[in-house]
Amino acid sequence: SLVILLDSKAQQTELEWISYPPNGWEEISGLDENYTPIRTYQVCQVMEPNQNNWLRTNWIEKGDAQRIFVELKFTLRDCNSLPGVVGTCKETFNLYYQETDSEVGRSLRENQYVKIDTIAADESFTQGDLGERKMKLNTELRIIGPLSRRGFYLAFQDVGACIALVSVKVYYKKCWSIIENLATFPDTVTGSEFSSLVEVEGMCVSDAEEEADNSPKMHCSAEGEWLVPIGKCICRAGFHQKGDACEPCGRGFYKSSSQDLQCSRCPAHSFNDREGSWRCDCEDGYYRALSDPPSVACTRPPSAPQNLVYNINQTTVSLEWSPPADTGGRNDVTYRVICRRCSWEPEECVPCGPNVGFSPAQSGLVDTYVTIVDLLAHANYTFEVEAVNGVSDLSRTQRLFAAVSIATGQAAPSQVSEVIKEKVQQRSVQLSWQEPQQPNGVITEYEIKYYEKVSLHCFLDRIYSTVRSKSTSATVNNLKPSTAYVFQIRAFTEAGYGTYGPRVEITTKEENTGTHTFTHTYPSPLLDITLSSWLMLSLVQFFTCLIKLVSFSHFHHLKSFKFPGTKTYIDPETYEDPNRAVHQFAKELDASCIKIERVIGAGEFGEVCSGRLKLPGKRDVSVAIKTLKVGYTEKQRRDFLCEASIMGQFDHPNVVHLEGVVTRGNCKHRLRTNVFCSAFCCGGKPVMIVIEYMENGSLDAFLRKHDGQFTVIQLVGMLRGIAAGMRYLSDMGYVHRDLAARNILVNSNLVCKVSDFGLSRVIDDDPEAVYTTTGGKIPVRWTAPEAIQYRKFTSASDVWSYGIVMWEVMSYGERPYWDMSNQDVIKAIEEGYRLPAPMDCPPGLHQLMLDCWQKDRAERPKFDQIVGILDKMIRNPNTLKTPVGTCTRPISPLLDQSTPDFTAFRSVGEWLEAIKMERYRDNFTAAGYSSLESVARMSIEDVMRLGITLVGHQKKIMSSIQTTRAQMLHLHGTGVQV
Ligand code: AMP
Repeated sequence: SLVILLDSKAQQTELEWISYPPNGWEEISGLDENYTPIRTYQVCQVMEPNQNNWLRTNWIEKGDAQRIFVELKFTLRDCNSLPGVVGTCKETFNLYYQETDSEVGRSLRENQYVKIDTIAADESFTQGDLGERKMKLNTELRIIGPLSRRGFYLAFQDVGACIALVSVKVYYKKCWSIIENLATFPDTVTGSEFSSLVEVEGMCVSDAEEEADNSPKMHCSAEGEWLVPIGKCICRAGFHQKGDACEPCGRGFYKSSSQDLQCSRCPAHSFNDREGSWRCDCEDGYYRALSDPPSVACTRPPSAPQNLVYNINQTTVSLEWSPPADTGGRNDVTYRVICRRCSWEPEECVPCGPNVGFSPAQSGLVDTYVTIVDLLAHANYTFEVEAVNGVSDLSRTQRLFAAVSIATGQAAPSQVSEVIKEKVQQRSVQLSWQEPQQPNGVITEYEIKYYEKVSLHCFLDRIYSTVRSKSTSATVNNLKPSTAYVFQIRAFTEAGYGTYGPRVEITTKEENTGTHTFTHTYPSPLLDITLSSWLMLSLVQFFTCLIKLVSFSHFHHLKSFKFPGTKTYIDPETYEDPNRAVHQFAKELDASCIKIERVIGAGEFGEVCSGRLKLPGKRDVSVAIKTLKVGYTEKQRRDFLCEASIMGQFDHPNVVHLEGVVTRGNCKHRLRTNVFCSAFCCGGKPVMIVIEYMENGSLDAFLRKHDGQFTVIQLVGMLRGIAAGMRYLSDMGYVHRDLAARNILVNSNLVCKVSDFGLSRVIDDDPEAVYTTTGGKIPVRWTAPEAIQYRKFTSASDVWSYGIVMWEVMSYGERPYWDMSNQDVIKAIEEGYRLPAPMDCPPGLHQLMLDCWQKDRAERPKFDQIVGILDKMIRNPNTLKTPVGTCTRPISPLLDQSTPDFTAFRSVGEWLEAIKMERYRDNFTAAGYSSLESVARMSIEDVMRLGITLVGHQKKIMSSIQTTRAQMLHLHGTGVQV
């Protein structure tokens, strides 16, 4: 690790250093201890006083060295051994150097040299065995540096000693280039300090790459040794390490990643004939799935399933089979079923279409069986069962499958679901209905069953009558006036009766007066059981029924509160089958009756469109159509339809009205009749919710667009509508949980209707909702504290939200609590602060808001009372006048009460005192801030300009000024221009 710059011993010719004065140092040839000829310099002017003999080396170019080592070998005579030299003889000499960028002349100037050291002999002499004195060779090492010029001279000053300079060696140290961990480190000169380590980055050898986040480094020590290797290089894919190099993998071998150490033999059914491969290619007919790593064998599609057997039960077919003989070498075999309906003759088959159901699924089947339902009766089908695995889609070879041809049996017709009351009289009811979706034969007759609905009494419920009809309408006569009846219809074919459709409740007209009819369907599954037991009039049945009734009322009690004479909201989640809930509450519309015109918004599940709905025998109406985006999951479909299941239970002028749903659309049919629908047809059944059209969209955006354009009466009219809608919902036992102006829709007559129904997860989609510590997402600004804290959602918490909606309406869509953070809102509410009255807001309305925001929810008004109060205000518009400029201060303003009220101060000085900043009184005065108004306009830069340097004080003053601004704004309704 040494780089020699000068070695006097190595030189055979004369050294020819400069010596001065001429009688001083003298170049002499001699022999060293090994009798090798060497060049030495000697001086021995021990008798003469005041000696100053200089010897200078030739110029030494330092190269890239920083720390230079100088090794001297010399002998020195002991003055005691020289007689008569006392006073003049010395036993040391001095070593100097001079840095220059190039050779300078041969003249010597002492003052240009820098002294390195005074050199003395360790031992000048030793005593020989026989008492004779022997000269001893001394070795001294000195280090110089860091050096900054290109080279230097060394100089030796003798002041009267007897010296022989036997050798002078000058060198520096270097770490020589090496390969370590497959990285090359170049020659590196040591650092200038004794303790310094020079960090050196390594370069990967060819076909190697740096290990991720671990680039190779080493350190060159001052001693010229490599220390502390860090990181490494590794051979790249297709190469492996051999010694300090990377060599390609041989033929038939591969290495897929640099991480692997060794090349591996190609896995089964793969090969390669190149060197340095990172993977092997599959043999013909074998494949690798996208997710297969290069280390696994190539595989092929499975053979056909075996032993396919079937079983037919009317219009249901079950298939069963055994796994294929050859799985293709994979363990991800699943099955898919292809269903085709074939005409009898000539055999021509078409795909079965979306109305046929597969259980558990049509494809991706893991088990070796499937049940196919809802096939047509008396029809011919072929089923092909194919085994597929991860490489089936890559293979272009012919599909292998097992197939059966089956003829279905006869089946009863499906349900009659859409019943329309055509005419309701005092003693008769005229009904019409649609033919069932699947008649499964020729319908020869319909049976209409009906009974008087007398509370929930087992006995009375059982007494029913029937009427038959050959067409899809019938009139039931001999009914009692003002009596509620329940009707159910079923179809009859030669295969027998279908199941009854849903119950339809109709109340006959009052005798002489009244026009009230009331239709809705019962959702209770328990009622079903009660009624179906009709035929067996045994005592056992009676008791069973009683027991069920008890459990029924218990169940009901838990789910909702029933108000006498009012319908009760039923949570669709209590239905095991959500599809049943939808069809219980929402009308299934024929997609061909809907025309989509344009997209008007984006809902959580898909686009919201506007369009028209034309039902047979009715005028067409504008509707909003919410769609479920293509490729939905079953859960998304359920969540999406949930809104319809809820909305369908409501019927109130201030609650958005559901026209119906489309869940069973037939794309082929619809494409022909309606070009607009095509977008929703691809891949899966189309699903839509059809709602009355609300021309002005959501209330918050509507108000912001028409800022300041309505009279107070108009605004209160909107609020009255929302309150009436909420009164209806709360009477039904429905808690909205996300009442906010953004969830109110406005129609062209400015009628506001409550919308956005759903279970708690619908709130999750509200962009305003955030996660709280109690779990779940909550729209904090609109939500009552008890609902935020422990999820106590009730109609009373809806009243709180209603108060916020009032505030939003009166401020034309201002954001509640402006830009305060949610955390600050929660804290402020907890401390008793409430939103102040919006500008120009009649005090009575603000008082009503404050009542809605009572901490104790029992103290809040009920929606019924709110409607009453608003009605009174509308009847006496004088109560809504805001006396100009005297808008009263809110009772508990949303202000930081720990900050004193600015308006209470008479001077800047008084204010500063109150916030304990009076020390800056002179700063304010000197800068000309003499009034509180001028202070209120100050910005943080102004405050800093006063010479207030402490950040804490700047903040304190600024925050008081900001509060002041808010106070002025709220008190006078005027902003302060900043
Ligand atoms: P939603 O998924 O209910 O939040 O609806 C998304 C957007 O579609 C809303 O913000 C409204 O602008 C619009 N929208 C929803 N329903 C209707 C409707 N019945 N009439 C008009 N616009 C609607």
